[in-house]
This record gives sequence, C-alpha cells and structure tokens, in this order.
Amino acid sequence: MYLNNITEAIGNTPLVKLQKVTEGIRGTVLAKVEYFNPGNSVKDRMAVKMIDDAEKAGILKPGGTIIEGTSGNTGMGLALAAIAKGYKCIFTMSDKQGQEKRDILKAVGAEIIICPTNVAPDDPRSYYSVARKLNAEIPNSFYPNQYDNLSNTAAHYETTGPEIWQQTEGKITHFAAGVGTGGTISGISKYLKEQRPELVTVGLDTYGSVFKKYKETGIFDENEIYPYKTEGIGEDILPKNVDFDLIDLFIKVADKDAAVMTRRLAREEGLFVGWSCGSAVYGALEYAREHLTEDDTMVVVLPDHGTRYLAKIYNDDWMREQGWL
Ligand code: PMP
Repeated sequence: MYLNNITEAIGNTPLVKLQKVTEGIRGTVLAKVEYFNPGNSVKDRMAVKMIDDAEKAGILKPGGTIIEGTSGNTGMGLALAAIAKGYKCIFTMSDKQGQEKRDILKAVGAEIIICPTNVAPDDPRSYYSVARKLNAEIPNSFYPNQYDNLSNTAAHYETTGPEIWQQTEGKITHFAAGVGTGGTISGISKYLKEQRPELVTVGLDTYGSVFKKYKETGIFDENEIYPYKTEGIGEDILPKNVDFDLIDLFIKVADKDAAVMTRRLAREEGLFVGWSCGSAVYGALEYAREHLTEDDTMVVVLPDHGTRYLAKIYNDDWMREQGWL
C-alpha cells in the first residue's frame, strides 16, 4: 500500500472532540484538524484543485511557473503540487507573515518575494499587484488567484464538506470557520446546507477586516480596514470565494483573544495549532455559549499547525511584548 506522490495524502483529516475549552457549553463541539494534511494546512486541498482545474482548462502547461500571492499556507500546498507535477513556483508574501512561513516555502523550492503589508491592495507594491505583474511578464506562467478562483470553494465542497457530514453521521447542526479567501467556509457551508438547510454557519472575522460590516449592512466600509496581527483571516477586499448568502453571521475576534485561545488549545487539548485556530475556536465558543443546546453538534475548522507561529504566539517573550501574557 503506497501513494504515488505526497499530494494523494491530502484530505480525510480527523475530527476531534474539544474537551476542556468547551467547559460550560451545552452540546458537542468538534474540531476538524487540518494540520494533518501533508502541507500542514487546510489550503493543500484547494491548491491541488486549482492546479488540476487549470491543467484541464489548458491554462497551465508543462514547464510552467505558478505565481501566487499567499500568506504561506496556500504556497505550501501549491509547492507540493508543483513538485509532484514539475512546475516552478514564485510566491509574493506580505511582510507581516512569520519568518517560519518564508523558510518553509524556500525549503520546498519556491522563490519568495516579500511585499509591504500596509499598502492598499491596488498599490503597485502590494503582494496582489506584484503577483499580477509577474504573471504578465513571465511567459507560460499561471496566477491561480486564490481569492477569486472558484476552484478554491469547489475543493471544499467536494472534499471537506462531505468528510464532515460523514464523520458526524449527519448530526452536525452548526458550522464555524475563519474567513480569508472564503473558500473553506463557502465550500463546506454549501455542501452542509444542501444536506441540512437549517444548519447555521458562523464566519470568524478579525478587527481590521471588512467582512462583518459588509454582511450586516451591504456596505464596503474602508473605515473597517486597519492593521491587525492575526495571520490568515480577515481581508481588505471582498474575494469572490466569500459567498455571503452561505454565511449566516460573522463574529470578530481580537488578536489577543485568538492568541490566548490558541495556546490553550495546545496545552489543554493537545492541539498544537496555528493562530487563526484560536480565532475560530474563540468565536465559535462565543456563539455556542449562547445558542447551542444539548442535542446540537458544532464543527469548527482548525486551519494549520503551530510550528508556523513558534516565534510569535508560542514565544512567551513575544507575548509579553504585546502585553498579552
Ligand atoms: N487560517 C489560516 C492560517 C490561513 O492560512 C487561511 C487561508 N487564508 C485561513 C485561515 C482562511 O481560509 P480561507 O482562505 O479558505 O478562507
């Protein structure tokens, strides 16, 4: 029994019951632990799907170069797929992402270009703009554009959604996930709501991001945009992969609350996970505390692994510098 290459190990991640952090909450809260994917994150699923779909559409050809703006995890998934299929990778990254994420991508052979975080998305220096420019300049290159490429949502509709439905034997009543590109929440929610239309989907957002206000008012409010520290969720754009009709409500989670909850997940649950996992669990439990009944089952997605945050939230000195410890 063996796999033909490492990308075949993507998916079928475990669902683990949260035991301690859920104290005082009625109902069952289960975590979908996505660091079990070979690239240690949920993004492996959509990375492979974006490449497969581009090959099928004839957009990506042999010997091609994949160019993407990524906070790290998508890059890892793309790099694994690129190795399996013989493509080169160039990734643009914002300078707020941890050093670990840069080193990890270099380790798997990608070229990294660091861009400033605090510039507007349409500024020529932004990591979105630099990726687009390289795509225009480099022959036989492919820019997956994870924000607007609907293969992202489709990957979760086809794999993560059905896995959760089967693992809960159809008992899931509530679903929660952080929202960055929106692919995870939209794809899973679409599948689950097709099985159970009354299922409630909770999106976790950050302070400094536009999603919650947009859902509640329909207004893209630039005053909502300001720097924050949590990596991987919240946006200053409205990606096509965020399907607001499939997300019933958003809850914003502060950087500190997310960081402290992430550390609790490691120590109290044995789940050594990434920062946005703390955001997801903190926000999900805020909702669960008020709304879950004994018979309810909530699933929350934990997107990535703790190794990527050792120099930040898992470092006591860094936590003290933020005034969070
Ligand atoms: N958490 C982390 C650590 C991520 O890298 C991402 C991807 N941006 C997300 C959460 C959000 O997932 P999605 O892009 O599917 O909304």
